[in-house]
Amino acid sequence: MTHSGSCLCGNVQFEVDGTFDGFFLCHCKYCQKDTGSAHAANLFSADGELRWLSGANSVTNFRLPTTRHVRSFCSLCGSALPSAPIQGEPLLVPAGSLDSEVPTMPQCHLFLASKANWDNQLEKVPGFDSFPDP
Ligand SMILES: [Zn+2]
Ligand SMILES: [Zn+2]
Repeated sequence: MTHSGSCLCGNVQFEVDGTFDGFFLCHCKYCQKDTGSAHAANLFSADGELRWLSGANSVTNFRLPTTRHVRSFCSLCGSALPSAPIQGEPLLVPAGSLDSEVPTMPQCHLFLASKANWDNQLEKVPGFDSFPDP
């Protein structure tokens, strides 16, 4: 199965061939900093093959020293992008970077012990389809 994605500015476009065998919502402190939000939403593929269709030279990688935390992003707009696997790690694809439909549901939340203090019963917060009516 081929999945496709891009960054917000459109400079980087990619395809992934393969199956996603993991989908995790990670609430660790690294992912909170990295995303600026409550958690990361990362798909993993052991056999996935990543192909940059455009903008490959704008893809920047950051690996937090002495950890397994990696992040790839567009150097123009900062959008999260897939991290090419190294040392036998699976391919990591941020769910929000995909333009094609995400074919699976998250399996679980990770690192809830370090979740943000405001990340609590969020389904009870009022919701709107877009901005609320004035
Ligand atoms: Zn971009
Ligand atoms: Zn994390």
